[in-house]
Amino acid sequence: MPQIVSQRDARAVKKLPFCYVCGNAFENLEAVTDDHVPPQTAFLPEDRENFPLILPTHKGCNHTFSTEDEVFGQLIGLGHEIEKGQDRLKIYDGSDTVGNTFALLGDLDLHGAIQRWVMAFHAALYQEPLPPLTKFSTQTPFPSGTSVNGMVIPDPDKPQFRDYAEQVEINAQLGLVDRISANNGNLHYQCCWQQSDDGPWLAFYKLDIYAWSKLGDSKNFGSRPCVGAYATPGHLPALATRGTELWSVRT
Ligand SMILES: [Zn+2]
Repeated sequence: MPQIVSQRDARAVKKLPFCYVCGNAFENLEAVTDDHVPPQTAFLPEDRENFPLILPTHKGCNHTFSTEDEVFGQLIGLGHEIEKGQDRLKIYDGSDTVGNTFALLGDLDLHGAIQRWVMAFHAALYQEPLPPLTKFSTQTPFPSGTSVNGMVIPDPDKPQFRDYAEQVEINAQLGLVDRISANNGNLHYQCCWQQSDDGPWLAFYKLDIYAWSKLGDSKNFGSRPCVGAYATPGHLPALATRGTELWSVRT
């Protein structure tokens, strides 16, 4: 089953013949650049070299996201300070201002950034691009809430994400996940596949970058993992590992 867990695996990814962002093969003489996924700034200096996940992209495709990526890198980087017991920045994924102790993600498209990284992980593992219009359902590692009269009201839990997390966990125990472990093991991605009743193949994924779930405001909200799912209509990537269905384990 495909996995990227060594420098050697990562070197092969760097030579992919297509751009994971737009999905097109590279033509002769096209401007191609290296894209670090996730951005380098997310990792401590000692974790940046051993070994980063780098994919080739068109220069134009990469450029579109560079500023936003930089912001997310810095945000994740805050986790290192938290681990050292320094000032905690409370983060929540919301849409309004609620006071000085919170950093809001409302104006930043973290869902979009994570989805783009997952497109890169898919390309790296399966050596084929995900169609750019693939539909994702993602739970960020930061809690979400809405501000009402200065109070943050947590958004209701979405039970499907608990199912996704369980799906990945069960298949991981059975050795049926495709995975990436990079940056000294501080980037950890797991993905498993199953077919839905009406045809499409679904990928369930879990993404950990250091202990980034701890970055969230755990006083007002519970912490939660970064999990999600995406569908590929009528097509299971040739290299993908087929997982066990959750219901067959539960019954
Ligand atoms: Zn491109």
